[in-house]
This record gives sequence, structure tokens and C-alpha cells, in this order.
Amino acid sequence: MLEVVEAIKAMFAGSPVRIVHVRKEEVGEPPQGPRVSEIGLAETLSSALIAQGLERLYSYQFEAYRLISSGRDVVITSGTATGKTEAFIVPLLDRALKEGLKTVITYPTKALAKDQRARLTKLCFNVGVTAAVYDGDTPEHERREIAKHPPAVFITNPDMLHFGLAYSSRFRGILREVDAVVLDEAHVYEGAFGSHMRMVLERLKRTVRGKVQLIASGATIGNPEELGRLLFDVDVEVVRGLPRRRGVAYHVMVSAGPLSRWMVASKLIAYLARMGLKVLGFTDSQQMAELLARMAKRDGANVTVHRAGLPKAERVKVEDALRAGALDGVVATPTLELGIDIGSLDAVVMASPPPSYVKYLQRAGRAGRRGLPGYVFMVLGDDPIDAYYEARPEGYFEQELTPIVFEPSNEEVVKLHVLAYALQHGRLREQAIPPAWREAVLKLEAEGLLLARGASYYPSREAWRLISQKGLRGAGPEVEIYRGEKLIGSRELPMALHDLHPEAVYLHQGVVYEVERLDLKRLKAYVKPVGELPYYTRPLYEVEVEELDLEVEREVDGIRVAYGSGRVVKTVVGYAVYQIYASERGKPKTLKYLEEPLSWSYNTKLLEARYADYADPEAIHALEHAVIHAARPVVGAGLTDLGGVSYPSGHIVIYDSTPGGSGLAKLLYGRLEKAHRVALEIMKNCSCYDGCPRCVYDPFCGNNNRLLSRKKALSLLEEVLGRAASIPLEKPSGKSVA
Ligand SMILES: [Zn+2]
Ligand SMILES: [Zn+2]
Repeated sequence: MLEVVEAIKAMFAGSPVRIVHVRKEEVGEPPQGPRVSEIGLAETLSSALIAQGLERLYSYQFEAYRLISSGRDVVITSGTATGKTEAFIVPLLDRALKEGLKTVITYPTKALAKDQRARLTKLCFNVGVTAAVYDGDTPEHERREIAKHPPAVFITNPDMLHFGLAYSSRFRGILREVDAVVLDEAHVYEGAFGSHMRMVLERLKRTVRGKVQLIASGATIGNPEELGRLLFDVDVEVVRGLPRRRGVAYHVMVSAGPLSRWMVASKLIAYLARMGLKVLGFTDSQQMAELLARMAKRDGANVTVHRAGLPKAERVKVEDALRAGALDGVVATPTLELGIDIGSLDAVVMASPPPSYVKYLQRAGRAGRRGLPGYVFMVLGDDPIDAYYEARPEGYFEQELTPIVFEPSNEEVVKLHVLAYALQHGRLREQAIPPAWREAVLKLEAEGLLLARGASYYPSREAWRLISQKGLRGAGPEVEIYRGEKLIGSRELPMALHDLHPEAVYLHQGVVYEVERLDLKRLKAYVKPVGELPYYTRPLYEVEVEELDLEVEREVDGIRVAYGSGRVVKTVVGYAVYQIYASERGKPKTLKYLEEPLSWSYNTKLLEARYADYADPEAIHALEHAVIHAARPVVGAGLTDLGGVSYPSGHIVIYDSTPGGSGLAKLLYGRLEKAHRVALEIMKNCSCYDGCPRCVYDPFCGNNNRLLSRKKALSLLEEVLGRAASIPLEKPSGKSVA
């Protein structure tokens, strides 16, 4: 089995690429529990389970059985392929048979619900319990049947729940009798998607006649209690199975050395494909996924791109082609973490470390088909966190799991669901509005989406249109991308500002486009194909933070830090042009400035800290970058999840990139001591002269990594850590640097 790893070593021999670490992981079966015939299950259920080869429950499944049978709210966490589904379905079917219990099972995506359907419905059929899948593809005659005879097990997805509750009285009729709700694959509910799911459940709870029992099940979750409380707004019991997927996996850390990580990842994908392995490439950026697929194709692999922002039909085509064996693999953004089912593959290639170790484990869990070992490659490049782990590879695999978080009261998300709830009832009666919704109602009224008449608020015509168009995956408005008259995709703000400013190079399904125009009023971008281009662009931008509203403040290592909300104004003033095949160390070829800078602003959550009463801009800007880098291992934030800005008044503001907040800035506020120590190590251990991509550079810097000094930032942080008393917080002032 190690041949694959040896072959990769041989391929890179003589090049500066280095295999830093190989780790074999072998995970056995979870501990056994009682026999299914011994725990008092309904006769038909226990014989159906035995007939399909399930004679014994694992002990964690038995624990879940006990808790769910007694009506408790539960979060189950266990690795891929360790029998999570049985952990919740056995007790629910048992109660369906004995008490007539009705359950809704929600999978994050329609595709996944479909794949589970075969397994679940077969078991239900064998046991004599009715089951049905109800999603966007369910034909009208089936929907009518389901409504006439609501099944005991109702399988759906968050989007169907959201739209069904808002628009369909028939759908609400089915849900009204529900006793229990299961969220499977619950580890995907983070950031904006988590905030949406919480609100969908809130609406569901208000629609169901009785009290609903709440159950979540997910792969690797570091904070199951907290995630349960965030999603359900109640305290939950936690059941833990195996921490990892079952089977054998080889984890290989590869250092790209002075070469580009994209080139190394592309070679890996192509070589593994040539060995006959099915490969899944991962990157966190949509544009880089396009680029990587293009490079791997050139290296001889038959791969394509799978990412958000592509039309649905295109994504389904890719999934089908992969299943049918027509492709060697795909290069994906984390859309696949949302459980779109392409089955397991042989190898996973991560072009860079994922935003968190939890995500590493989730992505790694994709490698290894039934009974075969999985191969997981992670490429380390020129990046502070990569350098940090290259120096301590063992530490990477031994780190704690960062929590899965979201902002439970994200104002953008709450507004959407309050409006959807108003559509469901035709109006919101003033006296029946929950206190947590009041602010959203007032804002919706100010925006003309709710109209106050008498003692009620009525949804406007615009509200109907808005709800039907907005999905649950983001919090910001979507920019539609047009090639001539043809809609080819979409991109959410504020990232659309980064990727779709005028003259930006935009890659889409393997085609190179240049952006002609970005109309932020109408939320439309116009692009034109430009053939082959040897470069990519990164925006230059400025950030101002307005309307600061700080809620809490505390002392951390000789500084004052506060957390709250504010308005982030982002202005793209130009862009830098980079060569595709040069290493990330390479300087941009040229800088260009836009004739008309482009601004967009949004409310979000942030932390503000003051490191000095006056700071050299090179010191405070570099320190801001180092703390944002440190936030990756400390809170599990991806590089674009948090933004930062520094001020000569010694202030640093770090904000959630998700409009309304993602919970990450809040987590960082609570863990800033830890982030300081990681930042210190990053800056101390770099051997560069005074700042480089391995310490204080940031590929998403708005200032093109100018005005940065590693040495000055290091001595500032050392001074802060040794300081006796902190400086009062006060207001940031002076020219900000993003
Ligand atoms: Zn350096
Ligand atoms: Zn910067």
C-alpha cells in the first residue's frame, strides 16, 4: 500500500519538493454493545435488522438508542462509515412502530437525501414504516399522495423546508404533525448556513402542533454541546462514537519548497490519476479551483471543476460523469463538504491546509473506498501557517478540534426568515412578534419589505420575489454573472467585489474571462472571454470601519480588546497582476488603478484591539496580518473568513467577512491570548530579512503587502506581552491600512 507513497517520492526525486511526513492511520470498529434482539425493539424491527446483517449495536449506537427513546434532544458525533444513521434511525423506527412517531430527516443537500433514500426507505419498507422523500424534484402527483397520507419518515433538505414553509400550506400541513426532527451531516451547519438552519428550525418549531424532539448527527465535531445549543436553542445530550473514519489511511504532507503549491498539487493529481486512482482535489478558493483543474488537465489528468457558483445542471453533470467513471477526478471547493454524493474516492489532494483541522478530517474522510486504503496529500507552500506546520508536522495531527460556530442572530439571516414567516401567515401581528425578531421587523419595514397596517405587518410584493430568489448558503446579496445576454453563474458579496471588479481576470468552467463591468446597484457583472491568459489578478482595496458598536471589552496580554458590530466599507481601487506559474513568493508583475473605485458596505461583527498609543504603520499592519494568520489554527478561520485593518493609532480591527457575522470574530475575541502566541512564533521563527510570504505577507492584503515589517511587528508584540498595564481602548484614528 505504501507503493503509492513511494511512487510519489520517486516522482519528486531531484526536485525541491519534499515529503515532510507520512502517517499511517488505522481505525478499527467502535466498541460493541448489546444484541439487537436483547434490547426490547419491536419484533419486526429487530428481525429486519438481523436480516440485513446487523446483529449487534455498537455501544455508542445503544447509548443514542436509549436517549432518543426517552425523548431527549441529542447530538451524535462519529466518523464517516461508522453507523451514524443506524444510531438515530433504530430508535425512531422503534417508536414509529410502537407510538406512531413521525420524523423529518433533513440532509444538507438534495443529492445526498436521494442517496440515503434507497437505504432508508428499504429499511422502512422491510419494517413496515411509511417513508417518502419530498424535495424540489418530487413530482406533483407524488406530493399530493404524500400530503394525503403523511409518512412516518419524511426525508427532505433545508431549502425545501425553507420554501415549503413559506409558500405551501400543503407542505405545512404535513409538518404540523411531526414529533421529531433529525439534522444529518450537521457538521456542515456553520457560518451563514448555520444561522439559516437555526432560523428554519425556529420557523418549523412554531409551525408544528406539539413539542419537537431535536436530533443532530455529524462526522467530526469538536463542540457538539455548543453546536446543539446553537442550532436548536436548547441544551442537548451528546453521544460520541469513533473520532475518525473506519479503515486505513495514509496521510502525506508535501512541501512545495520554492515551487508553486498549485503546480505541485496539479502534478500530484495527474500522477495519481495515471496510477488509476480516482482523485479529489480541494482548494478553498473558487478561482484557484478553476486554475488547478486547468493545470492538472494540462498535466494529463481528465479532471473538471466542481464548485459553488456554477449552474446546478453543470454540477449534476460533473457528479454523474464521476460516478460513471468518465473522469479521473474533480477539483472542488468545499461544496463537496456539503455532502454532494460522488461516493468515496481513492485519493484526496489538498492544495493547501484547509481552514481548520476539523475540515482536514472531513475532507480526508473522502479518501478510501470500501476495504481499500485512502491516500491523503496536503501540500504546504509559502505561507505562515504552512511554515508553522512544516516545522512541526506531528503537531498538525495532534491539534485540538476547533469548534464549529455561527452567529445565532445574524441580522441579515434573521431578516430573511422573519420575512418568510410573514409570508407563511400572510402577516405578522404586532403583539405576536418575538422580542428577538423586533429589530428585524423594523428594518424590513424601513426597506419596504414589510408594510405596517393597523396592528400588523404585511409582506410587500417585493418580499415574495426576494424570498423566492434567495438561498440559504450565504448572507450577502448574489451578483449575477453575464456573458453577453447569458447568465453563466453568480458570486456572493463581498467576495464578488474581490473577484469581479472591472478588468479582473475571472475563470469560470475552464474559460478565461475579463470583467467588463460590475453594476453593484443591479447586482450584475458582465464578462467577456479572452482566450488564454498567463496571469491572474488580485484586488487592491481600502477598508473603513464605521458605526462601531462595542458590546463587551476585556484585557488580553497588556492590551484592551472589545467585541461588537460595525459597518465595513470596502473600496476596490485597483488590482495587482500575477504570473500563474511563478511561485507565490513572486512579486506581482504590475499594479493597475481603476478610474472609478468601487465601494460596497455591510454590517458585521468584529473585534477591536489597541496595541499601542501610537504605532509605526509597518509594525501594526504586519501584526494585523500575523494575528489573522494565527486565527487559522486557533479558531479555524479560512484566510478570507476574516478581514483586518490597522491604524497608526495602534488599533487593529478584525471583522467577519460574512455580512451579519459568522461567529469567528467572536471566537477570536475569546481566544486572542492563544492567537498572540501563534503570531509570535510565526514571526520569531522566520529567517527572512524583514517580512515575506512565510511570516507577515497575506495573499488577500488590500495593500499588496506593502508597509509591512516583521521585525517591528515582532518587537511590538513582545512589548505588548511584557507590558504591565494596558492602554485605554479609545477610537481608532489616522489613515487605515487593510
Ligand atoms: Zn518572513
Ligand atoms: Zn494588509
